[in-house]
Amino acid sequence: MKIAVIGTGYVGLVTATCFAESGNDVIGIDKDERKIAILHDNRLPIYEPGLLELVTRNRREGRLTFTTDFATGVRAAQFIFIAVGTPQDADGDADLSSIWAVTASLASVLKDVPAGPPGSKIVVMKSTVPVGTNRGITDRLAAAGCGHIDVASNPEFLKEGAALDDFMKPDRVVVGVRKPEVTEALRELYGPFLRTEHPFLSMTPESAEMTKYAANAMLATKISFINETANLCDRLGADINDVRRGIGHDARIGFQFLFPGPGYGGSCFPKDIRAIIGMGRKNGLKLNLVESVDAVNEAQKQVLFQKIQKHYGNLAGKTLAIWGLAFKPRTDDIRDAPALALIDALLAKGAILRVHDPEAMANVREIYKDRLIYCDRPYGAVESADGLVIVTEWQEFRHPDFEVIRRLLKEPVIFDGRNIYEPKTMESSGFTYYGIGRGQRS
Ligand code: NAD
Repeated sequence: MKIAVIGTGYVGLVTATCFAESGNDVIGIDKDERKIAILHDNRLPIYEPGLLELVTRNRREGRLTFTTDFATGVRAAQFIFIAVGTPQDADGDADLSSIWAVTASLASVLKDVPAGPPGSKIVVMKSTVPVGTNRGITDRLAAAGCGHIDVASNPEFLKEGAALDDFMKPDRVVVGVRKPEVTEALRELYGPFLRTEHPFLSMTPESAEMTKYAANAMLATKISFINETANLCDRLGADINDVRRGIGHDARIGFQFLFPGPGYGGSCFPKDIRAIIGMGRKNGLKLNLVESVDAVNEAQKQVLFQKIQKHYGNLAGKTLAIWGLAFKPRTDDIRDAPALALIDALLAKGAILRVHDPEAMANVREIYKDRLIYCDRPYGAVESADGLVIVTEWQEFRHPDFEVIRRLLKEPVIFDGRNIYEPKTMESSGFTYYGIGRGQRS
């Protein structure tokens, strides 16, 4: 099958590569010439485990190409996926300017393409977009003489850091369609990824669009819930890790997304939560629960900072090592990362920061330039620091040599924003240890 993917960011590049990997003929299109040049140079503009190998193989075998030439890429494709960014605008709503720009470009190219049977040319929306966007694209294309083009919604649920696995073995594929022929075309396209009987769920575009926001709102709710509960544990001397186990074994609750931390971040949850609040507001419905989820998260981004501030009193001139800058492990993505909020708060108090992240350093350097000390190795960051702060739980931080850390630090204190260490072990190894809700009254 011939596929075009517009936008070769985290989602578009994974989508293009995975479809090529299942034998399709795929062209990835981006307006960013730098990104396309990097891809032509057999490198990746992002870090995602396993992706470079797949991109390289599929390019070599001729199934995957990249271009900035929109018209050429789009004209021949049966499926035209849109995977451009939908960031937050000034009001907190989804900024759809890239979506409308792509729609206009599509209209100008596709109006000359002769009409085929239903399902022969389908624009598929992979970006996360507010309910009604599919209708808006359909109407704009029709007004431009492209009424023969079908428009489907196909929200993406992949997680950065595990994106290939999530795409190739999805829990479910959701499509929002208006014609049975479009459902069948998409079902066939996704067939290779659904061989283990995971469901292919066909619904209206409006329901598909809503499904993505509902999924993210639910997951963010779990995170804010456990964070708030952890903060109460801190006040009462209970250990959130025991509480988490105590509730997680209840099958109605489960364990996933019940890890307390420095607040959720990343390119999706914060903006999608604000966008769903905006959808409610515009339709006369105040979403009290989701608004609270957002407020709890904003406050949570300060919890680690408050623990640090309380420990030292005056932070001016104190040196802190920070391990983990990406919003989660196994990605270089720092969009809305909790580490950035912490860095801003610490710098504002005059702290000196020695930072380390296995993949995200270049992105962080672009923002902070010479205001931080960038350390290639985790132990390098700890050298002569007054304390160590864990913000992102990369695997390699889980079992460090604590003896070395203790020797390198000026004062043996660890602020563990991800609860990856055990308070008792840390204390018996001579550290002053702060976790999130670990039963040490604050
Ligand atoms: P991204 O910023 O990494 O990539 C977007 C790409 O689109 C960029 O490379 C940009 O240059 C390109 N682009 C923008 N306008 C264009 C145009 N007119 N023509 C061609 N290319 C254009 O974004 P992302 O993280 O991949 O997210 C894309 C969408 O997928 C968003 O709506 C996001 O909410 C959603 N999503 C993201 C994730 C995730 O984990 N990143 C997961 C699920 C859904």
